[in-house]
Order: sequence, then C-alpha cells, then structure tokens
Amino acid sequence: MSPLSRKEKFDTLFPRAPAFRFRQFEEALFDVVLKSVSDISNMPLAMRETLAEEIPWLSVQEVRVFESVKKDTFKAVVEIGGGKRVETVLMRNARKQWTVCVSSQVGCAMACTFCATGTMGFTRNLTSDEIVDQVRFWMYFLEKKSTLKNPNGEPYSEESRISNVVFMGMGEPLANYDNVKEALHLLLTYTDIGMTRITVSTVGLLPMLKKLLDDSSWPAVRLAVSLHSADGDTRKQMMPSSYDGFLDSLVEWTEAYFRKFESRRRHLTFEYVMLSQVNDTQMHAEALIRFAGRVGNARINLIPYNFTGSVYRDSLPGDFDRFQKQLEDAGVVVTRRKTMGDDISAACGQLIVEKDSISL
Ligand code: SAH
Repeated sequence: MSPLSRKEKFDTLFPRAPAFRFRQFEEALFDVVLKSVSDISNMPLAMRETLAEEIPWLSVQEVRVFESVKKDTFKAVVEIGGGKRVETVLMRNARKQWTVCVSSQVGCAMACTFCATGTMGFTRNLTSDEIVDQVRFWMYFLEKKSTLKNPNGEPYSEESRISNVVFMGMGEPLANYDNVKEALHLLLTYTDIGMTRITVSTVGLLPMLKKLLDDSSWPAVRLAVSLHSADGDTRKQMMPSSYDGFLDSLVEWTEAYFRKFESRRRHLTFEYVMLSQVNDTQMHAEALIRFAGRVGNARINLIPYNFTGSVYRDSLPGDFDRFQKQLEDAGVVVTRRKTMGDDISAACGQLIVEKDSISL
C-alpha cells in the first residue's frame, strides 16, 4: 500500500481549515524560491509548526545524481517513503529547456522482456506527491545550478525552465491510475507546464485506456502507447502483458479515442522500440503499415533500443533506416527518438535501482 498523500495528511491534521490553506501550502511547495514551511510567511505559525513536523517538504530524497558526458542528461536515484528507491531523469530538450521523466511505480509488473525495470517485479505505487516531487526535485536542482558560476566567475546563462514532463520512467502509469491522475492535476494547477507538454506512456492497459475515455476528470494530456509490434505473436513474445486479440482491441480503442477527441489526433503516439531481427524485418514493417492505416495514420515513434542486458540487440543502422523508409514511402507519419543519457543508464528502459551502482 502507498503512504497517505499530503492532502490526506493535511485534512487529518487540520479538519476544519478552509480550502485555501491547503492550496497555499501546495503553491508554496511549487515556488522554488521557498525552501521550507517556515518560509510561508502568511500562514499561521502554529500551522507551520505542525506542518514542519508532520509533512516533509519534499517526499523524495536525493541518494545520488549522475551526469551524462554531454551534460545534457541527469539521472537521480531518490529515496521515497519506506526506504524504497526510484529513478528520475532530466533532459535538455529541443527548445533548450528541460524535460523531466518521472517514475510512477517502484518496479513494474508488466515484465516487458527488453526493459530493465521489467526485471525488477512490482513493489508499490507512488503517491501523487512522490510523482510530482520528482519534478520539484529537478526544479531545485536547476535553480541551484543556475546560481553556480562558470570558471570566469559569470553565472551560467542556461535556461532553467522545465517545460515538459513525460511519464516514461519506472512503472506502468495506468496501473497507478488514480495517483497518476492526481499528479497530473497537481502539475497542471501548480506549474506552468501545459497539457500538451505532458505525455503519459502506457504499455496499453486497455481497461484503463477505456476508463480514461469516459473519465471527464482525466486531463487531456498526450498519450503514448507502447506498441512495439503490429504482429500479434511478436508482441506477445516481447511483452507478456499482450494477448491474442490485443491489437484488434487497440484499433477499436483508438477509433473511439479519435471519435471522442478528434482535436487530439496528434496527441496520440505509438512507440516502437527497434530490436534487431525481432520486430524490424520487412514483414514487421508491412504489419505496422497496415496497423497505421487502421488507426487513421496516427504517429509512430521509432525508438533505438537501449541495451539492458537482455537477449536483444539494437537494429543495425541499415535495417533501422530501411524500416523507417518503408513506412515513410507508405505515407505513415514516423519520427525517430533521440537517445539521451545512455552513458549513465538513464535512457528509456534502463531505469533500475542497482545496488552496486550506488556508492553511499
Ligand atoms: N510502462 C510505460 C512506460 C515505460 S518506459 C510503457 O510501457 O509505455 C517508456 C518507453 O520506453 C516505453 O515505450 C518502453 O517500452 C520503452 N522502453 C523500455 N525498454 C526500453 C529499451 N531497453 N530501449 C528503448 N526503449 C525502451
């Protein structure tokens, strides 16, 4: 079971407090200038004292931060309640601002065969606070970095704004539906990151995908579905959560999604990790072209495989290019994901808390 959220704790501590008090607290938490509850000057002292004792300012504590050679990617191992650890990643994006990749669970139950987190098994869901505090962790990190001076004594003129959040860290976000939904609301309420700058990536949990279609309080964030193969048998072999008939049901769901949210058409992506001779052959490209046609040509994002110690190898460059060209020639909308942070095991699918990688 996950621990109580800040809101639940607050309501227990102050059952009669007016609603604006919790908002005031949460606004302060997201104000990077404030560093502790004693900095909330317009809150009654007694309340601040209780909060300081009962609710930690940050629910994730730094264990270690790794920096990539190119200095454009950072990975943090953080400790959450109960001594558990997860990883979160900060990457410089195309707009020269920063994207945070958050974890939503300790471990993952989906056991995708190419993913390092999949080998860990599932331990517990993260609370909404533990999810959003990964973003706050990097807000403080960037703020501290921006005050550092370069060797000439000048401040680094680096952008410190976090403009995007992706739920592509450890865990299956839709298996932690309520906490992820609450985390999305917190981010949308207390940061300036907009709905189209947040992406939730899912293995394709159909009951949950169906649920969000009818959930009026599910925010209109971007969705990415990990497809990885449009051939049913190949997908089952790569992803134990897949089953016969999955792809047909996913097509039906996508049709329903587009019927309901025509304007969000470009906010749905299918992810496809390229594994040599496993899902990158001509037959797989043809299956993917047929699938893309059935889902109204939604965008396909080809992902280079990041080595995780599994039996797989990444697609040979020639095979990758040929696969991409075959799709493009058939009119499929394809993008290719840039790999970042693989030298510090911070790339997609490499997130795992290895004891021997952490020197304490
Ligand atoms: N559980 C979610 C989020 C996982 S990570 C999901 O399945 O979508 C985000 C993306 O990284 C997913 O598309 C996932 O399949 C992909 N991924 C996992 N392992 C990878 C690897 N070794 N190399 C490249 N991408 C990988």
